[in-house]
Amino acid sequence: MPQRILVIGAGFAGLAAATSLANKGYDVTILEKNSMPGGRARVFQANGFTFDMGPSWYWMPDVFETYFARFNKKPSDYYQLVRLDPSYKVIFGPNEAIDLPAGLENLENLFEQIEPGSALQLRTFLTQASYKYKVGINNFVWKPSRSIREFLSLKLLYDVTRLDVFQSFASHARKFFKHPRLLEIVEFPILFLGATPANTPAMYSLMNYAEMALGTWYPMGGMYEIVKAMVSLAEEKGVKLLLNQNVQQIEIAQGKAKRVITNQGIFEADVVVAGADYNHVDTNLVDPPNRNYDENYWQKRVMAPSSLLFYLGVNKRVPRLEHHNLFFDEDFSVHAQEIYETPRWPTKPLFYASAPSKTDSGVAPYGCENIFLLIPVAPDLQDDDATREYYFNLIMDRLEAYVGEDIRSHIIYKRSYAHRDFKNDYNAFRGNAYGLANTLRQTALLKPSMKNKKVNNLFYTGQLTVPGPGVPPSLISGLVVADEVAREFV
Ligand SMILES: Cc1cc2nc3c(=O)[nH]c(=O)nc-3n(C[C@H](O)[C@H](O)[C@H](O)COP(=O)(O)OP(=O)(O)OC[C@H]3O[C@@H](n4cnc5c(N)ncnc54)[C@H](O)[C@@H]3O)c2cc1C
Repeated sequence: MPQRILVIGAGFAGLAAATSLANKGYDVTILEKNSMPGGRARVFQANGFTFDMGPSWYWMPDVFETYFARFNKKPSDYYQLVRLDPSYKVIFGPNEAIDLPAGLENLENLFEQIEPGSALQLRTFLTQASYKYKVGINNFVWKPSRSIREFLSLKLLYDVTRLDVFQSFASHARKFFKHPRLLEIVEFPILFLGATPANTPAMYSLMNYAEMALGTWYPMGGMYEIVKAMVSLAEEKGVKLLLNQNVQQIEIAQGKAKRVITNQGIFEADVVVAGADYNHVDTNLVDPPNRNYDENYWQKRVMAPSSLLFYLGVNKRVPRLEHHNLFFDEDFSVHAQEIYETPRWPTKPLFYASAPSKTDSGVAPYGCENIFLLIPVAPDLQDDDATREYYFNLIMDRLEAYVGEDIRSHIIYKRSYAHRDFKNDYNAFRGNAYGLANTLRQTALLKPSMKNKKVNNLFYTGQLTVPGPGVPPSLISGLVVADEVAREFV
């Protein structure tokens, strides 16, 4: 009889782990607390609008290709991708905005107009970034990072020296570009990694390669199409997906996880793979002697930001918005300090506005705009309705000033989402949105480990372990943990 594997959580990592394990012949069941799969990438419909709840940037299409290729499939078997052009708009003030075009030649022209000589600099910067991307994505991110031995090869050590692991992204970028606008543009993708450019290794210029060379894409129908594709593939491989199963305890005896107890029943297991937030599993589902890390460890982790989100249905089109719009019209260093150094609600936050209805008429009724607003904020803040409303008006003032028209009186649907929702819906540690920050001290071997040190058959996957936050890394995390399980439990 094949070994029974229970996967906790149907986010990207849990779905990827379950599908890969089922494909290897195991008997796999996913236990998901919510009424739909997808985790942070769930979707909801209201008043004719379809709102993706979390991710909106489809980057690194090659990782999705790799994922589906494992099962002899392609993304195009499930959804249609379109490349966005412009990739995104950066708004520096009511009268100043830059559209980032798709295609390297167009980007070089744009850079050259802003800072003479920077086209060539961009080419060199991206050549180095391309090397980092290839080594990083083809090699490092696939390491389970359970032992230093994985990194002890001459080739890898040589690669590490060329990866700029010990230099900060901020100082690396300043060797190439001087103009503040160009620096803001190249530093933007680093914000995805949950730390400031000064605290992020220069290795992550691989994100610039991903964004500028590989492009920004959109799956028609919305980001949830990826989840639907993954669920369909998982079920085709025989994975049983059980929803509304809130796991309350992993029962452990003699160093082995034996049973998983949910609000609905008891499930026997030979192996448990936890794809729910690592801290939640280790602190709330495992008894104290068997935890991988203590409270002190978690208190010292640097979390990526949480987010205050607004989902808006607007009964008219807003011509001046693009699909992705970054409002960089305030000082990022102050906002960053209010996220990382002295965590508090920000005084003048940067924010992001997405309008997928610009590309996809299916996500809003005819003549309407679907708008998603995101303010990155420190984790664990006091989250109440009055504060949410204060920030809503603060950013709407700036949004309306830029688009040059009233939006507020055209809102026919509005929902907000922040810390307390992340905690309630996903058991998110400190209400985090994107897991752990990708600082040097929280990279590879220094991330929470994929395997429990005391419980032989308990593994972890997802954005709080290797390789890190984001949809592509979460997919990789699921595949890597499945290979680890298969290596040990034949
Ligand atoms: C607002 C927002 C915007 C983002 N934007 C982007 C983007 O544009 N591009 C990008 O690549 N990434 C983006 N990300 C990051 C990306 O969405 C995440 O890194 C990724 O979805 C994490 O997947 P996961 O499987 O690790 O975790 P999750 O998606 O959190 O999945 C964990 C699952 O475990 C379940 N669970 C928790 N506790 C239990 C329990 N006790 N019992 C059973 N089930 C449980 C949860 O319900 C959830 O379904 C964004 C994230 C957010 C929140």
